[in-house]
Amino acid sequence: VSRPNDLSAFWMPFTANRQFKQAPRMLVSAEGMYYQTDDNRQILDGTAGLWCCNAGHKRPKIVEAVKAQMDELDYAPAFQMGHPKAFELASRLAQLMPGDLNHVFYTNSGSESVETALKIALAYHRARGEGQRTRLIGRERGYHGVNFGGISVGGIPTNRKTFGTMLGGVDHIRHTHLPEQNGMTRGIPEHGADLADDLERLCALHDPSTIAAVIVEPVAGSTGVLIPPKGYLERLRNICTKHGILLIFDEVITGFGRLGAPFAVDYFGVQPDLVTTAKGLTNGTIPMGAVFATDTIHDAFMTGPENMIELFHGYTYSGNPVACAAGLATLETYEEDGLYTKGQELGQYWEDAVHSLADLPMVKDIRNLGLIGAIELESIEGFPTKRAFNAFLKAFEKGILIRTTGDIIALSPPLIIEKSHIDQLFGTLRDVLKEID
Ligand code: PMP
Repeated sequence: VSRPNDLSAFWMPFTANRQFKQAPRMLVSAEGMYYQTDDNRQILDGTAGLWCCNAGHKRPKIVEAVKAQMDELDYAPAFQMGHPKAFELASRLAQLMPGDLNHVFYTNSGSESVETALKIALAYHRARGEGQRTRLIGRERGYHGVNFGGISVGGIPTNRKTFGTMLGGVDHIRHTHLPEQNGMTRGIPEHGADLADDLERLCALHDPSTIAAVIVEPVAGSTGVLIPPKGYLERLRNICTKHGILLIFDEVITGFGRLGAPFAVDYFGVQPDLVTTAKGLTNGTIPMGAVFATDTIHDAFMTGPENMIELFHGYTYSGNPVACAAGLATLETYEEDGLYTKGQELGQYWEDAVHSLADLPMVKDIRNLGLIGAIELESIEGFPTKRAFNAFLKAFEKGILIRTTGDIIALSPPLIIEKSHIDQLFGTLRDVLKEID
């Protein structure tokens, strides 16, 4: 096999970031907590792939279910047709989700889940005769995937600037995280819930009766693990309810056990109107996402002749049988292994381990919750990603996989992690940070 020496050719064709223009690190197999490289090295997975392999790699039940499904029914159209596993998975998912988030719309990725949820929100208001509600509100430093809706409501200006045209009528709540205020916070910051009141500023600015939905990640993941202060999400919920605005939680990362509960909805006890998921739904195997909607939203489309509108939306691969089989086997694996509560059981050990790096001079902030964590480094002037990226390269050399975003190291290991892996991860990371200094 020839080894391409320019990873950007197929991974990030538009990147201006020369750091990617180098030989890729080749992963050839994986099992449990470890990847294996083409030069026979074991790499401890500190990021569950891309925040998705929550049950670790090559789980037998999932492998078997996918093989068996391929043998039985490989594909079924989702329009005017169905197959039993699509309904079985939907009902299992609805049971897992608290409150009346009982309805599931299948997608193929987190990005598609976001587009779907935004469209459902707009269609819902129209179905109720409130078609003037067209504005969408995201949050600065929010990440909601790569499609037009997602980058528009997403709070990363650099992700938007290459493309010129975005959705109109979008605004952003000021972001939640103030490192200077919350420095080295363990778990949930005590103060800062009033940052949610920035939504009231936007309501005053735009007229709340023109706002369709607010979308936030309960814990922002990709932009550096930003934990909401105590009471913040409740406050957002209250403002949305007061003004008739739908609240969407993007749980593409926080879903399926990451925080020590099945979903952030359970963890924070705040009920949104729509929830987007993907990643952990099939343990990173067959691409699949799901949007959850409340009874109220569902009924606006499905009951009452005057409310009957067609939601013209759906994908060729929505509810694909092989993906559904993978999803069902994944949920069984999470339950059998007790992974939804692993973040509680190991949470303190994890927290202590993440914060054990606080004494290193280059470390500016540390954050953690459940089995997710971030170590924010002091940036080198003029090249703000260099330090973390060097850490990533050195860490891979030393046998651990970490993720970086700007100068932040993010960690979200498979939930099957044990204390010995946590020791390996942070022991190695300490050596890495000392070496790159
Ligand atoms: N939303 C959130 C919160 C995410 O973290 C991600 C992916 N990191 C997405 C959406 C997009 O998911 P995908 O890459 O599957 O399209």
